[in-house]
Amino acid sequence: MSSTRTRELEIIIAHSAGTCFGVEDAIAMAQEQRQPILGPIVHNPIVVEDLANRGIPILERYSDLDELSEAGVSEVVITAHGYPKELKEDLDRRGLEYHDATCPVLLKWVYTKIRRFEEEGYSVILMGNPDHAEIIASRSYGTGIQVVYTDEDVADLRDDLGDRTVAICQTTITREKFQYLVEAVRRTKYPNLKAIDTRCKPVKNQQEAVERLAQWVDAMIIVGGFNSSNTTNLARIAKNYLPDRTHHIDSVDLLEERWLDDVSHLGVGGGTSTPKEQIQAVQRRVAELFDGRVRYRREDRDGELIKDDFGEDDEI
Ligand code: SF4
Repeated sequence: MSSTRTRELEIIIAHSAGTCFGVEDAIAMAQEQRQPILGPIVHNPIVVEDLANRGIPILERYSDLDELSEAGVSEVVITAHGYPKELKEDLDRRGLEYHDATCPVLLKWVYTKIRRFEEEGYSVILMGNPDHAEIIASRSYGTGIQVVYTDEDVADLRDDLGDRTVAICQTTITREKFQYLVEAVRRTKYPNLKAIDTRCKPVKNQQEAVERLAQWVDAMIIVGGFNSSNTTNLARIAKNYLPDRTHHIDSVDLLEERWLDDVSHLGVGGGTSTPKEQIQAVQRRVAELFDGRVRYRREDRDGELIKDDFGEDDEI
């Protein structure tokens, strides 16, 4: 006698997946001001395209200010990642009004820490991607800040910074990478290096949640921009546990049916620049592709599974 069992799939959304307060405030400011934005307001192409479609110009992040003035631009919006101090001063000098969407975590916490440590005589070492807008801006709020991100950067780091050195990190770096860099600098250059973990709360929460989830589900989908540092890092964390079954997508159109083969528990994470709607679109698409019963769950703060509020019912 043979029996056919209905296949079952549980989609589990990682705790705190999706946009953080800094990103939500920045998008709201861009929509409210409707002025040209100096760069992508957040690292999510769908959000940026949506603003452009509403007629809001997205300019080069480090636009030539002469050209802007000549083009008649009198107001701009600064993105959530921050903007270099000297460029803000230049905007002031030229009478170009700016609406500052820099995340308060940077304005009130990271820049303050940089200033305070320097006042106390510390040399600050920033650990993060030197080409990322956040690091370019943060660096400008100190004097002579060194940036390290790779083994080569550690090897090239000056060794005459004195006894008082402190490491501060990019808000979106992984804990693992920060620890690795700190240990490398302590081992090779500054044994007494202080280390301040300046990852922001939403990033920490998301990293912990994805790490917890990736250890027991069968596959993970991470949703968000490929240019988003925090989203890319979530995919990196998941890959530590699911190297061949972690899929980073920036659009629901990239989702492939074969990713659901032999999967009964599917974890879904989204970066701090990924709106809830993009995560819901993935839930919906998975349900369309999956031949069987789908249940929706969400992790709470403690990692307990609770019913997801997606849709009215537990299944589509
Ligand atoms: S990820 Fe952190 S630092 Fe970046 S905008 Fe969100 S809260 Fe601010």
